[in-house]
Amino acid sequence: MFADQQKNLIKKYLTLLIQEFIKDPQHQNITIIFKDYLGEKIAAYTKPRQWDEIIWTIINGKKVPGSEKTTHFYSYEIGFLNEYENEEWRAAIVHEFTHLYFFTIGKHEHQHDDQFYSNMERFENWLDENQGLIPRTDKSHDWDQHIDANKRDERRKKICPSCGKKETPYNTVNECFSCHQNKKEFNRLVNLIKNSCNLTELESNYLTVKASSLYRENNKVVLDRLYQNCKNSFSVNVNHVVAPTIEKPTIKNPPNEKSLIWLIIIGGFFLIFIIIYQHIIKKKKKTN
Ligand SMILES: [Zn+2]
Ligand SMILES: [Zn+2]
Repeated sequence: MFADQQKNLIKKYLTLLIQEFIKDPQHQNITIIFKDYLGEKIAAYTKPRQWDEIIWTIINGKKVPGSEKTTHFYSYEIGFLNEYENEEWRAAIVHEFTHLYFFTIGKHEHQHDDQFYSNMERFENWLDENQGLIPRTDKSHDWDQHIDANKRDERRKKICPSCGKKETPYNTVNECFSCHQNKKEFNRLVNLIKNSCNLTELESNYLTVKASSLYRENNKVVLDRLYQNCKNSFSVNVNHVVAPTIEKPTIKNPPNEKSLIWLIIIGGFFLIFIIIYQHIIKKKKKTN
Protein backbone atom coordinates (compact mmCIF):
# COMPACT_ATOMS: atom_id res chain seq x y z
CA MET A 1 0.00 0.00 0.00
CA PHE A 2 1.27 3.48 -0.82
CA ALA A 3 2.13 5.80 2.04
CA ASP A 4 -0.43 8.38 0.96
CA GLN A 5 -3.17 5.78 0.80
CA GLN A 6 -2.19 4.63 4.29
CA LYS A 7 -2.29 8.17 5.65
CA ASN A 8 -5.73 8.83 4.20
CA LEU A 9 -7.10 5.65 5.72
CA ILE A 10 -5.56 6.47 9.10
CA LYS A 11 -7.34 9.84 9.05
CA LYS A 12 -10.57 8.31 7.82
CA TYR A 13 -10.72 5.46 10.36
CA LEU A 14 -9.69 7.68 13.25
CA THR A 15 -12.38 10.21 12.36
CA LEU A 16 -14.99 7.45 12.25
CA LEU A 17 -13.96 6.22 15.70
CA ILE A 18 -14.03 9.77 17.11
CA GLN A 19 -17.50 10.38 15.71
CA GLU A 20 -18.80 7.13 17.15
CA PHE A 21 -17.19 7.08 20.60
CA ILE A 22 -16.29 10.66 21.54
CA LYS A 23 -19.54 12.56 21.59
CA ASP A 24 -18.48 15.48 23.80
CA PRO A 25 -17.58 18.46 21.52
CA GLN A 26 -15.20 19.69 24.27
CA HIS A 27 -12.92 16.77 23.40
CA GLN A 28 -13.09 16.95 19.66
CA ASN A 29 -10.16 19.32 19.14
CA ILE A 30 -7.91 16.66 17.67
CA THR A 31 -4.90 17.14 15.41
CA ILE A 32 -3.43 14.26 13.47
CA ILE A 33 0.18 14.60 12.36
CA PHE A 34 2.54 12.41 10.37
CA LYS A 35 6.31 12.23 10.70
CA ASP A 36 9.20 10.15 9.41
CA TYR A 37 10.51 9.59 12.93
CA LEU A 38 8.72 9.85 16.26
CA GLY A 39 11.45 8.64 18.59
CA GLU A 40 13.18 5.37 19.25
CA LYS A 41 10.75 2.45 18.97
CA ILE A 42 7.78 4.82 18.91
CA ALA A 43 5.22 3.83 16.30
CA ALA A 44 2.61 6.43 17.29
CA TYR A 45 1.65 8.63 20.24
CA THR A 46 -1.24 10.57 21.73
CA LYS A 47 -0.50 13.80 23.57
CA PRO A 48 -3.29 15.38 25.59
CA ARG A 49 -3.29 19.06 26.48
CA GLN A 50 -5.51 20.68 29.03
CA TRP A 51 -5.66 24.32 30.07
CA ASP A 52 -7.98 26.65 31.88
CA GLU A 53 -9.21 30.03 30.73
CA ILE A 54 -11.13 32.60 32.72
CA ILE A 55 -14.11 33.79 30.76
CA TRP A 56 -15.86 37.03 31.75
CA THR A 57 -19.23 38.25 30.73
CA ILE A 58 -18.63 41.49 28.87
CA ILE A 59 -21.24 44.20 28.63
CA ASN A 60 -20.54 47.46 26.79
CA GLY A 61 -16.92 46.47 26.46
CA LYS A 62 -16.52 46.01 30.21
CA LYS A 63 -16.07 42.83 32.22
CA VAL A 64 -19.01 42.31 34.53
CA PRO A 65 -17.59 41.96 38.07
CA GLY A 66 -18.13 38.55 39.56
CA SER A 67 -19.04 37.05 36.20
CA GLU A 68 -15.66 35.30 35.76
CA LYS A 69 -15.89 31.62 35.17
CA THR A 70 -13.02 29.13 34.76
CA THR A 71 -13.49 27.00 31.71
CA HIS A 72 -11.43 23.86 30.87
CA PHE A 73 -10.13 23.42 27.38
CA TYR A 74 -8.78 20.24 25.85
CA SER A 75 -6.84 19.44 22.74
CA TYR A 76 -5.17 16.28 21.54
CA GLU A 77 -2.33 15.57 19.18
CA ILE A 78 -2.02 12.13 17.66
CA GLY A 79 1.22 11.36 15.84
CA PHE A 80 1.73 8.63 13.28
CA LEU A 81 4.64 7.58 11.12
CA ASN A 82 4.60 8.51 7.46
CA GLU A 83 4.72 4.85 6.56
CA TYR A 84 4.11 1.53 8.29
CA GLU A 85 4.92 -2.00 7.33
CA ASN A 86 2.22 -4.60 6.83
CA GLU A 87 -0.82 -4.03 9.05
CA GLU A 88 1.04 -2.08 11.73
CA TRP A 89 -0.87 1.09 10.82
CA ARG A 90 -4.19 -0.53 11.65
CA ALA A 91 -2.89 -1.54 15.06
CA ALA A 92 -1.53 1.99 15.56
CA ILE A 93 -4.95 3.55 14.86
CA VAL A 94 -6.87 1.52 17.43
CA HIS A 95 -4.05 1.66 19.97
CA GLU A 96 -3.85 5.46 19.83
CA PHE A 97 -7.59 5.84 19.70
CA THR A 98 -7.84 3.83 22.92
CA HIS A 99 -5.41 6.27 24.61
CA LEU A 100 -7.45 9.16 23.25
CA TYR A 101 -10.66 7.62 24.53
CA PHE A 102 -9.25 7.19 28.06
CA PHE A 103 -7.99 10.78 28.09
CA THR A 104 -11.37 12.10 27.03
CA ILE A 105 -13.15 10.26 29.84
CA GLY A 106 -10.69 11.71 32.35
CA LYS A 107 -8.53 8.62 32.83
CA HIS A 108 -5.21 10.33 32.38
CA GLU A 109 -3.30 7.82 34.45
CA HIS A 110 -4.39 4.76 32.51
CA GLN A 111 -1.94 1.96 31.71
CA HIS A 112 -1.45 -0.71 29.09
CA ASP A 113 -3.49 -3.20 31.07
CA ASP A 114 -6.32 -5.64 30.43
CA GLN A 115 -8.87 -2.84 30.47
CA PHE A 116 -6.89 -0.91 27.87
CA TYR A 117 -6.55 -3.86 25.54
CA SER A 118 -10.13 -5.04 25.87
CA ASN A 119 -11.26 -1.56 24.87
CA MET A 120 -8.81 -1.53 21.98
CA GLU A 121 -10.29 -4.81 20.80
CA ARG A 122 -13.81 -3.44 21.12
CA PHE A 123 -12.94 -0.36 19.02
CA GLU A 124 -11.19 -2.42 16.38
CA ASN A 125 -14.05 -4.90 16.11
CA TRP A 126 -16.45 -2.01 15.63
CA LEU A 127 -14.24 -0.45 12.95
CA ASP A 128 -13.75 -3.75 11.13
CA GLU A 129 -17.47 -4.35 11.07
CA ASN A 130 -18.34 -0.75 10.14
CA GLN A 131 -15.91 -0.75 7.22
CA GLY A 132 -16.28 -4.40 6.27
CA LEU A 133 -12.57 -5.03 6.90
CA ILE A 134 -10.96 -8.43 7.15
CA PRO A 135 -9.52 -8.55 10.69
CA ARG A 136 -5.75 -8.14 10.94
CA THR A 137 -3.99 -11.47 10.55
CA ASP A 138 -1.23 -10.95 13.10
CA LYS A 139 -2.21 -9.51 16.46
CA SER A 140 0.54 -11.27 18.37
CA HIS A 141 2.46 -8.05 19.05
CA ASP A 142 -0.59 -6.06 20.16
CA TRP A 143 0.22 -6.66 23.82
CA ASP A 144 3.94 -5.97 23.57
CA GLN A 145 3.47 -3.11 26.04
CA HIS A 146 1.21 -4.97 28.44
CA ILE A 147 2.20 -4.25 32.04
CA ASP A 148 2.00 -7.98 32.78
CA ALA A 149 5.04 -9.72 31.25
CA ASN A 150 3.29 -13.10 31.29
CA LYS A 151 0.47 -11.72 29.21
CA ARG A 152 2.93 -10.25 26.74
CA ASP A 153 4.55 -13.68 26.33
CA GLU A 154 1.21 -15.44 26.15
CA ARG A 155 0.03 -13.13 23.39
CA ARG A 156 3.18 -13.67 21.35
CA LYS A 157 2.70 -17.43 21.31
CA LYS A 158 2.08 -18.86 17.90
CA ILE A 159 1.47 -22.28 16.44
CA CYS A 160 4.92 -23.75 15.79
CA PRO A 161 4.93 -25.01 12.19
CA SER A 162 7.23 -27.89 13.18
CA CYS A 163 5.57 -29.37 16.26
CA GLY A 164 2.12 -27.70 16.19
CA LYS A 165 2.38 -26.51 19.81
CA LYS A 166 1.41 -22.96 20.76
CA GLU A 167 4.72 -21.49 21.85
CA THR A 168 6.63 -18.23 21.89
CA PRO A 169 8.27 -18.07 18.46
CA TYR A 170 12.04 -18.29 18.59
CA ASN A 171 12.95 -17.56 14.98
CA THR A 172 11.55 -15.77 11.96
CA VAL A 173 9.61 -18.82 10.78
CA ASN A 174 7.79 -18.88 14.14
CA GLU A 175 9.35 -22.09 15.30
CA CYS A 176 9.52 -22.78 19.02
CA PHE A 177 12.85 -22.91 20.84
CA SER A 178 13.03 -26.70 21.09
CA CYS A 179 12.21 -27.20 17.38
CA HIS A 180 14.77 -24.56 16.52
CA GLN A 181 17.40 -26.38 18.62
CA ASN A 182 16.46 -29.74 17.11
CA LYS A 183 16.86 -28.37 13.62
CA LYS A 184 20.29 -27.01 14.50
CA GLU A 185 21.35 -30.37 15.95
CA PHE A 186 19.96 -32.22 12.92
CA ASN A 187 22.01 -29.99 10.59
CA ARG A 188 25.08 -30.74 12.70
CA LEU A 189 24.50 -34.49 12.21
CA VAL A 190 24.01 -34.01 8.47
CA ASN A 191 27.29 -32.11 8.23
CA LEU A 192 29.06 -34.72 10.30
CA ILE A 193 28.26 -37.30 7.62
CA LYS A 194 28.76 -34.97 4.67
CA ASN A 195 32.15 -33.70 5.84
CA SER A 196 33.64 -37.12 6.57
CA CYS A 197 36.94 -37.30 4.66
CA ASN A 198 37.23 -41.04 4.28
CA LEU A 199 35.41 -44.29 4.89
CA THR A 200 36.89 -44.79 8.37
CA GLU A 201 35.87 -41.32 9.45
CA LEU A 202 32.41 -41.79 7.92
CA GLU A 203 31.86 -45.00 9.86
CA SER A 204 32.94 -43.39 13.11
CA ASN A 205 30.74 -40.32 12.53
CA TYR A 206 27.83 -42.54 11.61
CA LEU A 207 28.12 -44.16 15.06
CA THR A 208 27.86 -40.69 16.65
CA VAL A 209 24.80 -39.93 14.50
CA LYS A 210 23.13 -43.19 15.48
CA ALA A 211 23.65 -42.39 19.17
CA SER A 212 21.79 -39.06 18.86
CA SER A 213 18.28 -38.76 20.26
CA LEU A 214 17.28 -37.21 16.92
CA TYR A 215 18.15 -40.41 15.07
CA ARG A 216 14.57 -41.61 14.71
CA GLU A 217 11.56 -41.57 12.42
CA ASN A 218 11.99 -39.35 9.36
CA ASN A 219 15.37 -38.03 10.52
CA LYS A 220 16.65 -41.60 10.66
CA VAL A 221 15.52 -42.23 7.07
CA VAL A 222 17.22 -39.05 5.82
CA LEU A 223 20.45 -39.64 7.76
CA ASP A 224 20.67 -43.29 6.69
CA ARG A 225 20.21 -42.36 3.04
CA LEU A 226 22.87 -39.69 3.32
CA TYR A 227 25.28 -42.12 4.97
CA GLN A 228 24.65 -44.70 2.23
CA ASN A 229 25.25 -42.11 -0.52
CA CYS A 230 28.49 -40.99 1.07
CA LYS A 231 29.62 -44.57 1.52
CA ASN A 232 28.87 -45.35 -2.15
CA SER A 233 30.72 -42.26 -3.33
CA PHE A 234 33.73 -43.30 -1.27
CA SER A 235 33.86 -46.79 -2.87
CA VAL A 236 33.51 -45.23 -6.34
CA ASN A 237 36.31 -42.82 -5.52
CA VAL A 238 38.52 -45.69 -4.39
CA ASN A 239 38.14 -47.35 -7.84
CA HIS A 240 38.89 -44.10 -9.56
CA VAL A 241 42.01 -43.58 -7.54
CA VAL A 242 43.34 -47.07 -8.29
CA ALA A 243 42.72 -47.04 -12.06
CA PRO A 244 44.82 -44.03 -13.08
CA THR A 245 47.84 -45.20 -11.07
CA ILE A 246 48.00 -48.32 -13.27
CA GLU A 247 47.51 -46.43 -16.49
CA LYS A 248 49.83 -43.68 -15.54
CA PRO A 249 53.07 -44.96 -17.17
CA THR A 250 51.35 -45.44 -20.53
CA ILE A 251 50.05 -41.87 -20.62
CA LYS A 252 53.18 -40.37 -19.17
CA ASN A 253 54.27 -38.57 -22.37
CA PRO A 254 51.21 -38.50 -24.57
CA PRO A 255 52.53 -36.01 -27.18
CA ASN A 256 55.59 -38.18 -27.98
CA GLU A 257 53.49 -41.30 -28.28
CA LYS A 258 51.04 -39.58 -30.57
CA SER A 259 53.74 -38.35 -32.91
CA LEU A 260 55.27 -41.86 -33.00
CA ILE A 261 51.93 -43.30 -34.11
CA TRP A 262 51.61 -40.63 -36.79
CA LEU A 263 55.14 -41.34 -37.94
CA ILE A 264 54.31 -45.05 -38.30
CA ILE A 265 51.09 -44.28 -40.20
CA ILE A 266 52.81 -41.83 -42.57
CA GLY A 267 55.73 -44.22 -43.01
CA GLY A 268 53.29 -47.03 -43.81
CA PHE A 269 51.52 -44.93 -46.40
CA PHE A 270 54.85 -43.94 -47.91
CA LEU A 271 55.90 -47.56 -48.12
CA ILE A 272 52.60 -48.59 -49.79
CA PHE A 273 52.98 -45.67 -52.23
CA ILE A 274 56.49 -46.75 -53.24
CA ILE A 275 55.37 -50.36 -53.74
CA ILE A 276 52.42 -49.27 -55.94
CA TYR A 277 54.68 -46.87 -57.86
CA GLN A 278 57.26 -49.54 -58.55
CA HIS A 279 54.50 -51.89 -59.63
CA ILE A 280 53.16 -49.30 -62.14
CA ILE A 281 56.66 -48.61 -63.51
CA LYS A 282 57.20 -52.34 -63.99
CA LYS A 283 53.84 -52.65 -65.77
CA LYS A 284 54.63 -49.68 -68.01
CA LYS A 285 58.03 -51.14 -68.91
CA LYS A 286 56.34 -54.42 -69.78
CA THR A 287 53.74 -52.78 -72.02
CA ASN A 288 56.44 -50.70 -73.73
ZN1 LIG B 1 0.17 3.04 24.21
ZN1 LIG C 1 7.93 -26.53 17.89
